[in-house]
Amino acid sequence: MKYIFVTGGVMSGLGKGITTASVGRILKNRGMKVTAVKIDPYLNIDAGTMNPAQHGEVFVLSDGSEVDLDLGNYERFLDIDLSASHNITTGKVYREVIEKERRGDYLGDTVQIIPHITDEIRAWIARAAAEPDTGGQVAEVCLVEVGGTVGDIESMPFLEAVRQMRGELPPEDTVLIHVTLVPEDTMGDMKTKPTQHSVKALREAGLYPDMIVGRSGHPLSPNTKRKIAAFCDVAQGAVISNTTVPDIYQVPAELEKEGLADAVVDHLYLPRREVSADWYNTVLREFTSRVTVAIVSKYGIEDVYLSIKEALKHAGRATATEVKILWLDAERFEPGQVADVDGILVPGGFGRRGIEGKIEAIRLARQGGVPFLGLCLGFQLAVVEYSRNVLGWTDACSEEIGEGRHVIAILPEQGDVDGLGGTMRLGDYRVDLGEGTRVRALYGTSGIVERHRHRYEVTPQEIPALVEAGVVFSGTCGDRMEVMELKDHPFFLATQFHPEFRSRPAKPSPPFVGFVRACREKRQAEQVI
Ligand code: GLN
Repeated sequence: MKYIFVTGGVMSGLGKGITTASVGRILKNRGMKVTAVKIDPYLNIDAGTMNPAQHGEVFVLSDGSEVDLDLGNYERFLDIDLSASHNITTGKVYREVIEKERRGDYLGDTVQIIPHITDEIRAWIARAAAEPDTGGQVAEVCLVEVGGTVGDIESMPFLEAVRQMRGELPPEDTVLIHVTLVPEDTMGDMKTKPTQHSVKALREAGLYPDMIVGRSGHPLSPNTKRKIAAFCDVAQGAVISNTTVPDIYQVPAELEKEGLADAVVDHLYLPRREVSADWYNTVLREFTSRVTVAIVSKYGIEDVYLSIKEALKHAGRATATEVKILWLDAERFEPGQVADVDGILVPGGFGRRGIEGKIEAIRLARQGGVPFLGLCLGFQLAVVEYSRNVLGWTDACSEEIGEGRHVIAILPEQGDVDGLGGTMRLGDYRVDLGEGTRVRALYGTSGIVERHRHRYEVTPQEIPALVEAGVVFSGTCGDRMEVMELKDHPFFLATQFHPEFRSRPAKPSPPFVGFVRACREKRQAEQVI
């Protein structure tokens, strides 16, 4: 097993996750088997209980674990399925060590950060790296991204674990890539001092980077590269420029041009294999038209809906359609805001805030023949909207929202769950798709597996009346309603599951493809008129 460690300097939010995923993609384009581990130095066991407005989307894996959004980037760039063990947090590591201590596994030792916590981290990394993928294959290369910024107190034990691994393994088995910011001053001159300081902090932790990736608005000049190489003690060819590009799927190609691939491959003594361009040709296909999709949600923060944004992009490439997103705040929703859009999407969410705006947007989509895609909460609210405005149950609502006729109710098994962490209906469940339905045509199969994250469902007793009134529940999991669609509408589809989590650039999610195609058709029809 070869390890590529990735650390970050200067500040967070640099695109370290995209850089890590892109390095993986570059190797994958050379036919290598790659996996990835994300280290999050926070104390939470997982991302499930964290506010997405603070920390970004909670990504859900097939096994039902709620993880950092970077795992979504890894799955999308590498086209692999990861598991809970690929996201290591301080909380998970300490819990493990404390449980061992309580069992008496340490035989009277004083339990300490070094060696007990660092040993646990190392064992965890090795275990996750060796875990076979769903096809039973074990990776040759494992990327390990250390979250946070070098110098943070909470990442110290992880950096120490990396240091120990680097010390014990042969030099050709590990490479350390440090991702840092190279800002420009008011005159447009590139400044290397922040990078120098962050490398100094890294060295204090006993880590010496092999390569430095500089994030910047413009390509690093030869002079800047020379300076970084000299001050940070790396070869000049090992200073890589990573400029902001319009589409994240261009990043691997950019890094490739900078020579990062050959540098990594040579450092790890891997053979220089043929590079395939297939992935780029698919994921960066040219656009022939453009649509605007309104996303009506509680948070105006794009990172909260990262997977939806990406899934729209994937579907857009597949249909040669550039998708422009109009982010609308559900609390201040006005019908005029969606007058010119080609589609409306209501994503997942929790709680009461902005609910009425979302329901109003769904009504406009349904009555105006505007393509609509509802996801999770968006599915539940589509049922509420239909109950209110078609069945005339004016007090219809979800049990999560308030009083009234509960057409959406708590899942029976959720009645007595203890605590909030990892207790929802999570991860993969099989969904059967009804014959002759839109969703079945989109997936091209009668049974699918999709990822879930919810506590509420369509109230079983209300289903017959809804169906009688025209709702088509075209996807089900046992007695549970999973997909709703409407006939006599260009495209009205909503899912209890989250199809966005399985969307990959070269394997777009069918509901998203159907939605974007319908948006494109609407736009083209209007242009003809
Ligand atoms: N709040 C809703 C539920 O728990 C929807 C969840 C979601 O959109 N992820 O069922």
